[in-house]
Amino acid sequence: MLLATEPMAADGPPYLRSNAAKKLYINGQWTEALSGLTFATDNPANAQVIAHVAQGDAQDVDLAVKAARAALEGPWRKFKPSDRQMLLLRLADLIEQHYDELAMIETLDMGNPITRSLAGKRRVLGLVRFYAGLATTIHGQTIENSIPGTVFSYTVKEPIGVVAAITPWNSPLSQAVWKIAPALAAGCTVVLKPAEQACLSILRLAELIQEAGVPPGVVNVVTGLAAAGAALVAHPGVDKVAFTGSTATGQAIIRASAGTVKRLSLELGGKSPDIVFADADLDAAVAGAAGAVFTNSGQLCIAGSRLFVERSIHDEFVYRVAELGRQMRLGSPLDPSTQLGPLANAAQLDRVVGFMDSGKRGGATALTGGGRAMDADLAQGYYVPPTVFSGVDDQMEIAREEIFGPVISAMPFDTEDEVVRRANDTPYGLGSGVWTRDVARAHRMVGALKAGTVWVNCYLPMDPAVPFGGYKMSGYGRESGVDHLDQYLNVKSVLLQTA
Ligand code: NAD
Repeated sequence: MLLATEPMAADGPPYLRSNAAKKLYINGQWTEALSGLTFATDNPANAQVIAHVAQGDAQDVDLAVKAARAALEGPWRKFKPSDRQMLLLRLADLIEQHYDELAMIETLDMGNPITRSLAGKRRVLGLVRFYAGLATTIHGQTIENSIPGTVFSYTVKEPIGVVAAITPWNSPLSQAVWKIAPALAAGCTVVLKPAEQACLSILRLAELIQEAGVPPGVVNVVTGLAAAGAALVAHPGVDKVAFTGSTATGQAIIRASAGTVKRLSLELGGKSPDIVFADADLDAAVAGAAGAVFTNSGQLCIAGSRLFVERSIHDEFVYRVAELGRQMRLGSPLDPSTQLGPLANAAQLDRVVGFMDSGKRGGATALTGGGRAMDADLAQGYYVPPTVFSGVDDQMEIAREEIFGPVISAMPFDTEDEVVRRANDTPYGLGSGVWTRDVARAHRMVGALKAGTVWVNCYLPMDPAVPFGGYKMSGYGRESGVDHLDQYLNVKSVLLQTA
């Protein structure tokens, strides 16, 4: 049964009306997988298949990498920085024109509430236009040296080459442009392997890339399962892997890329602490702590899922967060009043419910939520309600493992030193939050927390100009920021005898 507001494919965006399987985009052509295989992708709000997609494998990856190499060494080399800039700006304009459709496809494919998909426009366009701006800023240096005689030295920066971009399902469009745009700005070519669970908006994006006039082979999209990603990482024709996904896959990529010593940038998982001191603006902190985990149904790498609250305010604060969660509206992602959609896929539902069961078995109390949503109109989909566990011990699975669902593990603390030690006691180091009115304490906490981002009196804001990435097992390399292009560039040193 469909939810009342869920359109049949025939009523949905034109892109989803055709029954034909979606194709791979290789060398400027739309092609079936050489094996002829496809896989199904469903709408997580009702578990109905919305499209079949070509299942690329190692043979298709090989064609795509060869196309990317040929483009790199062919026409794409002749594109000046300003040409690449214009291309990215044209792509941004096309994305802007078609954004509502892209948002609708993404919502149907991965369950993100439509209001959130639409709000993502600012970020997606901001990223593409930011990297377009950077395309004309690439420069080397002249370097004074101490070599006897008359040797002149300078550096030039060159595109690193063929980039394998591998992305997860939790925010498909922005993840894709976060890799494609800097790669093109730097003059690289790309083979993108999007997550199999939600790749439709990216395939529509590839049509816009084609329409923008990006030459054949410069951007290729090979949809497929994990094996296609693994084939890309192993391929000797790939120079760099830009990966976002789980830490376990990141580790597999490090191992697999060792044979050819590929450049890597890795944006991996997290188990981020969100720390509330008693002197904070508690109204703002309650809303911020809830938003830090319930947004996108908790499918956020930066989710502030370990909520540390100073003991004097702990019980009331956690009760308020739970109450806010209880009032949030679960429902059809297409309904503008929906605040939480379903989880993006059935496997994620099983995983999140498994963690909730583990929390309950371990003695934690669910103040709200705690299991799959089984209301009549939600039971068809992969819904779980906002969940707040109290009575959580630091060593419980729900306090240590990335859940990637709308699940908060709340824990009291007594002193600043203690909460710093406990907050840092994790293999991850992606995000962190601090809520306090004490500026000196805020600065101390910024210095003490081992995480790539510290939000103070807010949580979640991100900007293309501000670097983003992880400490420890949350990855290495930074995306965003003016230095991001360096990860797509090689530095060549030149020593030139002038006399
Ligand atoms: P995943 O690691 O399972 O998959 C990510 C991508 O890697 C998919 O395209 C998948 O097909 C591919 N893949 C799987 N195995 C591979 C292999 N051996 N070699 C090459 N590619 C392979 O992650 P997911 O479940 O899609 O996404 C959730 C994870 O992503 C979470 O851990 C989350 O924290 C992380 N994430 C991190 C960030 C960040 O910026 N740090 C952002 C979003 C998501």
